[in-house]
Amino acid sequence: MQAALKNCPRCRKIANLTIYKFCDDCVREDEETYQKVYDYLRENPGISLVELSTKTEVSTKRITEYVKEGRIQMVEKILSCKICSEKIEKGELCLICEENQKKALIESLSSIKKLDKPAASAKMHTGQRRKPRE
Ligand SMILES: [Zn+2]
Ligand SMILES: [Zn+2]
Repeated sequence: MQAALKNCPRCRKIANLTIYKFCDDCVREDEETYQKVYDYLRENPGISLVELSTKTEVSTKRITEYVKEGRIQMVEKILSCKICSEKIEKGELCLICEENQKKALIESLSSIKKLDKPAASAKMHTGQRRKPRE
């Protein structure tokens, strides 16, 4: 298997990023940081983001990442939907926008099928993201 040598997105060091998204050092550091946040949150389930960040000395940005990834859950909803800015518990979209995105995707796929011009299929593939809204 070929090694995927890339810059670690956290420390910028060149690393083999096949299994983890960070280099070995960052994965280890991230695990420790995560464990600290997780443990503190388990003992203080109602804690706010700012308070949790102060007590654990972990940046709010990092804690927000963990929430976004669904690794921890906070009572305070600190994430917001990318589209409508509604407060959400995890991920990037609220349930309504997620549904709408799914519908839009299905619609765009079926409209491509309807057109069905074999010669244009390569072009259609790159263009399908830019479907105009009605
Ligand atoms: Zn790193
Ligand atoms: Zn939304």
